[in-house]
Amino acid sequence: KSFEQLGLDERILKGLSKMSFRKPSKVQERALPLLMANPPQNLVGQSQSGTGKTAAFVLNILSRLDLSTQELQATPQALILAPTRELARQIVGVVECMGQYLDGLIIGTAVPTDSNTRPQKMACSVVVGTPGTVMDMMKRRILASGGIRVLVLDEADNMLDLQGLGDQCIRVKSALPKTTQIVLFSATFPDHVTEYSKKFANNPNEIRL
Ligand code: AMP
Repeated sequence: KSFEQLGLDERILKGLSKMSFRKPSKVQERALPLLMANPPQNLVGQSQSGTGKTAAFVLNILSRLDLSTQELQATPQALILAPTRELARQIVGVVECMGQYLDGLIIGTAVPTDSNTRPQKMACSVVVGTPGTVMDMMKRRILASGGIRVLVLDEADNMLDLQGLGDQCIRVKSALPKTTQIVLFSATFPDHVTEYSKKFANNPNEIRL
């Protein structure tokens, strides 16, 4: 199947072609029809880094955004959680590239701010960050959670290796609307990751590569 056949928007296809993505990788071919189905369904996917999983979850997010008004463009609609700031930065780069022809797309990175300053509310359509910082911004109401329709947890296995991050992700998830689509990717599925994934993404579709 081609990207066209997956039903992606013209402007997203243009971004892909600019990035020289000619055809979907295996994980994209398997994940995208599940991710983009309506009504939205949860997905737990196994995929090593280097297989193209980032594009899979980013394409689903870009397809689901409503950027038809300035207010919507400045309302967080999708949230991506990553275990490290470095990975979060890389994901931001992918969203920027793939979404380069989407007018009104605003990408925000959750960066820690000192609690004494009065920070600006995050006026963006997509937010990427580490779980602790995202949770903190939600608590301080710098990040509005009510409009978030897609939550992605990337590298769940690495997330669970880092002290407390798994719990932070669960706390973030509970602050989101109940109907939010939950997407989780992990390279490996030892028992504790499998158990966590089942709890995190209740009744998910699953793909294993
Ligand atoms: P990831 O597994 O998301 O870290 O992606 C690994 C690398 O593969 C990145 O450098 C992507 O730019 C590239 N990539 C992902 N999907 C495709 C595709 N469909 N065609 C060409 N390159 C791709």
